[in-house]
Amino acid sequence: MRPEDVEHGTQRGYAWHRRRGEHACGPCMEAHGRDLANRRARRAEASPLGRSLTQARQRAGLSEAELAEQLGWSSPYSVGWVENGSRRVSLQALEEWAAALGCRIELIPGEVLEESAA
Ligand SMILES: [Zn+2]
Repeated sequence: MRPEDVEHGTQRGYAWHRRRGEHACGPCMEAHGRDLANRRARRAEASPLGRSLTQARQRAGLSEAELAEQLGWSSPYSVGWVENGSRRVSLQALEEWAAALGCRIELIPGEVLEESAA
């Protein structure tokens, strides 16, 4: 496929650069960035619990990196990955997480989690 065969500034263009093993051009990088942001937003929408975790952390006045350090996690980004639904954690980790924020985890029948987080 020749350069003129692909539409640059699109996710397809980005994939085309990657298949060729080269860095994407500026417009394709921008398109890729938008695509990543959209995917993150969709994942966050699909995870009310993730939103509750973000809200609880913000109420506790902690940054993602600060909470990761408290939890003994090696990556400062890991908290954000859980909050946006792109990384899963064990129940034990979730309980430690809640404790670090001064919260406890409860399931309340008939109520939406994000509205009952306190
Ligand atoms: Zn391009």
